[in-house]
Amino acid sequence: MSHSKKEEDSSQALSSKWVACSLEEQYYGDSRKVFRAERKRLSAKDRSKYKKTDLDKYEKGIKKEIADKKNETLLARGRVLSITSQGFIVEYNGQLYTCFLRGLLKKQKTQHKNIVTVGDFVLFEELAGREGYIIEVEERKSILSRADNLSRRKEQLIAANIDQVLITVSVVSPPLKPHLIDRYIIAARKGGMAPVILINKTDLLESEKVEQHVRHEQLNLLKECEAAYRKAEIPLILLSAEKGTGIDGLKDVMKNKSSVFSGQSGAGKSSLINFVTHLNLSVGETVQKTGKGSHTTTCTHLVPLDFGGLCIDTPGIKSFGIWDLSEQEIVSYFAEIQEFSNECKYPNCSHTHELDCAIIRAFECGKISPIRYASYVSLIETMREEHKRR
Ligand code: GDP
Ligand code: ZN
Repeated sequence: MSHSKKEEDSSQALSSKWVACSLEEQYYGDSRKVFRAERKRLSAKDRSKYKKTDLDKYEKGIKKEIADKKNETLLARGRVLSITSQGFIVEYNGQLYTCFLRGLLKKQKTQHKNIVTVGDFVLFEELAGREGYIIEVEERKSILSRADNLSRRKEQLIAANIDQVLITVSVVSPPLKPHLIDRYIIAARKGGMAPVILINKTDLLESEKVEQHVRHEQLNLLKECEAAYRKAEIPLILLSAEKGTGIDGLKDVMKNKSSVFSGQSGAGKSSLINFVTHLNLSVGETVQKTGKGSHTTTCTHLVPLDFGGLCIDTPGIKSFGIWDLSEQEIVSYFAEIQEFSNECKYPNCSHTHELDCAIIRAFECGKISPIRYASYVSLIETMREEHKRR
């Protein structure tokens, strides 16, 4: 009974469609027009089969598939934590999935190396057994890359979407070098990441083993740094990985963020990473960790932190290159210095030697931190030498 009702319904639907069609034809008057248009459409479709390459069609098919899947919300949004020989390890909803690339992405891979990198947010199709197909890689908000010196222009991608760089330096050994901190700050900001300064080994400022004049000199410099970076509005944390002091403050800034440790070797990055991640990175083996040591060859992982957030497990990122900075760009990275530049006499003042330079005047009146100003001047000089060499 219900079966025949269904049939009746569908036949009714068909007939009403037919009515609509014929009404349309009546409306347009000439039904031959409609047939002509349809013939044209079909033959165009036919020709396109030969004009377009198979690859294009294939891409289109996959793109449509992606769009369909997105509409049907069948895709999961995860984050790549590491890359292994088995595949991409993607975290989604607290679970780990081993994922592979779909054909379209694979093709792109040959054009840009690193189509997927650690830290990428990806859309993937869940398969059985905690596996998946990566269908799309989201646009990156920040890029962490490695360059060993200023002249090497090629970027080597390390990770994407990292929120902050924990610029790790130490007092006494190695001694505090503010100009180095400033270079890391610029590199971080240029890469789209926020800088945080960690000053480690503060226990050495009270150690009897360190000569008193060294402690005294380092303590003074440390105080100057604290004042300078407060003015520049860059967070600074004092730590001792040896004594475990400052760790709570470190965990606070790392909470719910993705962080990378960066800085001079020997400053205590591995020791601090071990503290926050409970990993067991080797500490103090400077020779092995730097240069062509193990950390440059092993791949990076993004490690989930038990207090929330993620952290790159590699302390080997000693430097990022600073590429092609113009003088205007350099000063823009020193916001609290640039602030004074409005009253400089020359519009293209470099603020290094000019008469009637408002920045030099502010510096002389003590309104600008001497360590920040020295960093600024040294960067301008480095860039000028760099340009001369090319
Ligand atoms: P990395 O090269 O930056 O990864 O530094 P490491 O974590 O390997 O540390 C280098 C050396 O400094 C090791 O011998 C550590 O034991 C030592 N070290 C690390 N943190 C501290 C600290 O807070 N105080 C002191 N006195 N030594 C430390
Ligand atoms: Zn000036």
